[in-house]
Amino acid sequence: MSWPTIQKTPSQFKSQANLLDYEFTRSTFTWQQAQRELQGLPNDGGLNIAHEAVDRHAQGATANKLAMRWLGKNGEVHEFTYQQLHRLTNRFANVLQNLGIAKGDRVFALTGRVPELYFTALGTFKNRSVFCPLFSAFGPEPIKARINLGEAKVLVTTETLYQRKVAAIRDALPSLKYVLLLGTGQELTSIPGTLNFHQLMRESNEEFTIQPTDPEDIALLHFTSGTTGTPKGAVHVHGAVVAHHITGKYALDLHEADVFWCTADPGWVTGTSYGIIAPLTNGVTMIVDEADFDAERWYRILQEQKVTVWYTAPTAIRMLMKAGAEVAKKYDLSKLRFLASVGEPLNPEAVAWSHKTYGLPFHDNWWQTETGGIMIANFASMDIRPGSMGKPLPGIEAAIVNKNPAGKIEVVTTPDVQGELALRPGWPSMFRAYLNEPARYQKCFADGFYLTGDLARQDKDGYFWFVGRKDDVIKTSGHLIGPFEVESILLEHPAVAEAGVIGKPDPTAMEIVKAFVSLKSGYEASDALRKELLGFARARLGAVVAPKEIEFRDKLPRTRSGKIMRRLLKAQELGLPIGDTSTLEES
Ligand code: ATP
Ligand code: MG
Repeated sequence: MSWPTIQKTPSQFKSQANLLDYEFTRSTFTWQQAQRELQGLPNDGGLNIAHEAVDRHAQGATANKLAMRWLGKNGEVHEFTYQQLHRLTNRFANVLQNLGIAKGDRVFALTGRVPELYFTALGTFKNRSVFCPLFSAFGPEPIKARINLGEAKVLVTTETLYQRKVAAIRDALPSLKYVLLLGTGQELTSIPGTLNFHQLMRESNEEFTIQPTDPEDIALLHFTSGTTGTPKGAVHVHGAVVAHHITGKYALDLHEADVFWCTADPGWVTGTSYGIIAPLTNGVTMIVDEADFDAERWYRILQEQKVTVWYTAPTAIRMLMKAGAEVAKKYDLSKLRFLASVGEPLNPEAVAWSHKTYGLPFHDNWWQTETGGIMIANFASMDIRPGSMGKPLPGIEAAIVNKNPAGKIEVVTTPDVQGELALRPGWPSMFRAYLNEPARYQKCFADGFYLTGDLARQDKDGYFWFVGRKDDVIKTSGHLIGPFEVESILLEHPAVAEAGVIGKPDPTAMEIVKAFVSLKSGYEASDALRKELLGFARARLGAVVAPKEIEFRDKLPRTRSGKIMRRLLKAQELGLPIGDTSTLEES
C-alpha cells in the first residue's frame, strides 16, 4: 500500500530551490529575520500588505515588469505592470477615502476573477480598511449573512450579480452604505442606490500615501469553506504578509522570473494569500484566468503563458486525471517546473499520475483559513512521499497531540500514532479572531497549542500524514479509520473518479465504512462493479477498514472551494437535516 518515494534529482529541483537546506533553515529561522526581506513603510510607518505587494516593486528596475496578465473568458487579455497596479490601487484607495471609508471599515467583493477585484483588494489594504471576498456564486442568503456579520460598508460587485442577488435583499443590509458596480463592457445603466466603479476610479487621483499601518491592524476577513458546518469569519492582520511572502518563497518556491498561476477562486483564502499577495510580494508575474475549469483551456494556458509554477487543488487534479493523460500530451508543458496542491488531501494516486504525465509530481501542502498561509509542505528540494503533506515550514512548530485522562494536551512522541494536528501559536498570519465568536475562538486553543480540528500522524522522519477531520473519523469495531485512506485506495481503481467515505451508524460495529463513488467516463454503475470495488478495497485495506457498502453517485457534493462535503453525504444517508449549505456547489 505504500507508494515509492519520489526522489528529487539535483539538476531538476534542488540546485535552484529557495529552501535548499531544510534542517539548517529551520534551525536558524526567525520571523524577525523573515520580516527583513520586506521593506516596511517609509519612516518606520509599519507594515502594510499593499506596500509590500505592489508599491515597493513599482519603482526602479521592477516598475515595468508585468505583475499580472489577465485572461478573460472570451479571449481578452489585459496586462498590468507593477507601476500600473500601483496607480490603479492608489486610485481605489482614493475612491474609498473620498467616500469617507475609514481604517477598519469593511469592503466586500462579490465578483469573479476580474482585474477590478485585484485593485479592490490592494486598494482596500492601502486605505487600511478590511477586505472580505465572497464567492460570486453565492445566492442571496449566504451573501446577506456574511455582509451582515461582517458589517460591510462597501460592496464591489458587477451589475449582473447585483441585479440577480443583491438588489432584492438590499433593505436587509443595514450596514451597507455603498455599492460600487462594474459594468459588462458598455457604460453602466444607472441603478438606484449604486455607484459606478469605473467612473469613481477615473475621477480619483492616482497618488496615494499609505498611512502608518501597525502590523496588528486588521486587513482581511475570510469566511471558512463551510465543509464541517456554518462558515466562520477568520480575522487576519497586515503583519500576515511576512508569512504570505516567506511561504510563497519556501513552499511554492517562487523566484522573480517565475510565471505563477494560482487557480483558486478569489472567494476563499487561497485566492487572496496565494492568488494576490504572495506572488506579488515575491515579484513574479501572475496569471489570472477568469474562466472556470476546462481541461483543454487549462493546458493551453500552461503552454501559452509559459507557466512555471502552478498551484491548484486536488479536485481540479482529479478532473484532469478524468480527462486523461492523452489530453495533456497534446500540449507543450515544458516550462512548468513546480506543481503544488492544497485544500483537501492529495491522494498518492494523483501525485504518481502527475509525475508520470507531466514528468513532475504535485507537492501537497496543508493549511487552513485560520492559519492564513501554508504551514506544512512538500518543498522543492525534498523527496516526496506520496500521500504525505510534507514537513512544517521554517518558523512553524507542528505536533500531533492527544488529551490525557486529566484533559491535558500531550504531545505524541511515538511515530505513526495518530492524534490532532496542533500548532504553536505565534506565526504572523495566524487568525486573530472568529468574528463575533470569541468563545469559538478560545476553544481552538489549549495548553499552548492551536488545535486544528484535523487528525494526522507523523512518521519517524518527520513527514506529516493527514488522517481526516476530527468530525469525519469513523469509529468501527474499536478502530478509528480516516476517510482519506479508504478514498485513496478506491481512487486507485481505474473506474473511480471520486470517492467520499463516511461512517454509517451500525448497532454492532458502532459505525460501518460506507463509500460514495462517482465513475470515470466510459464506466457504468452496476452490481458487478460494486462487488468488484468492494473486493478491490478489501484486498488492499483488510476487512475492518474496507467499505462495507458502496453507493454510486453521478457527482459528489462539494463546497465551492472544491472539498467533498462528507457531512452532507452523512446527513443524506441518515435522513437528517443537511445543515448550512451556503457553500455547496450547485450541480
Ligand atoms: P470549515 O472550517 O468551515 O468546515 P474548511 O475547514 O474546509 O471549512 P478551509 O479553511 O478552507 O475551510 O479548509 C481547511 C481544511 O482543509 C483543513 O483543516 C483540512 O481539513 C483541509 N485541508 C487543506 N489542505 C489539506 C491537505 N493538503 N491535506 C488534507 N487536508 C487539507
Ligand atoms: Mg475548518
